Amino acid sequence: MLIDAHVHLDKYGDLLDQALQEIDTEPIFTVATAMDLPSYLELQRIAERSSLVLPTFGIHPRRAAEYVDRLTEIGRYIETSPGIGEIGLDFHWVKDSATYPAQRKVLEYFIAAAREQKKFVNLHTKAGEKEILDLLERYDIKRAIIHWYSGPMDILRALIDYGCYFTIGVEVLYSDYIKAIARTIPDHLLLTETDNPGALRWLKKTDEIGMPIAIKDVVDGLARVRQTVQEEIELLVQGNFARLIANDPSLQEARRSLFSWSS
Ligand SMILES: [Zn+2]
Repeated sequence: MLIDAHVHLDKYGDLLDQALQEIDTEPIFTVATAMDLPSYLELQRIAERSSLVLPTFGIHPRRAAEYVDRLTEIGRYIETSPGIGEIGLDFHWVKDSATYPAQRKVLEYFIAAAREQKKFVNLHTKAGEKEILDLLERYDIKRAIIHWYSGPMDILRALIDYGCYFTIGVEVLYSDYIKAIARTIPDHLLLTETDNPGALRWLKKTDEIGMPIAIKDVVDGLARVRQTVQEEIELLVQGNFARLIANDPSLQEARRSLFSWSS
């Protein structure tokens, strides 16, 4: 089965029905990451419509400043969430450095909860790559997905040595640097994402709305870069994702749908 381990399903608006139809038809197991609290609540409602959608709660670094004084409230929702994300740091696209302390505080709160509740995390690391690696080590977080990595190669290798998983997305079709990253990630840590609906719009500066089906282009791009075939990538990623969620008490249901659909 195809795996989209990082997508913003609550942002599809009028195209949500079509997006869910693609997810069920292909099928695509989907980790639906939240940007903030309303986003998570919406994702929980959406997930009732497909057993292939796993909604996870996180506060995106862009939103951190709005939530830094609401950590107790956040904590209640983390407990209800089967995984954690999107969380992280962004010192590149977020220009307002006054928000950086809030980003760090909110991220560490989530990481501490992930440690306590033994949940996997889905991380945005833009220009905070080394700091995030240090944090993962300090809290001994073993199940981390690094989303759309584009940072330095030496930190990439350190994150690989530590055992992080990496979601490669649509940029593998366009960027030589991302292709080099996609070649560097070892087989057992490779995952796929679309980060849609906004990824293509962001990447190509067009109005193009990225649908879930774009995950097939990612698999195709990865197969080319890694000199193999699509079926091989699909099986590899499915196996990696199954390993990531194995033995996770919060994810027994997700595991059941992953295996019942793929058999
Ligand atoms: Zn995202």
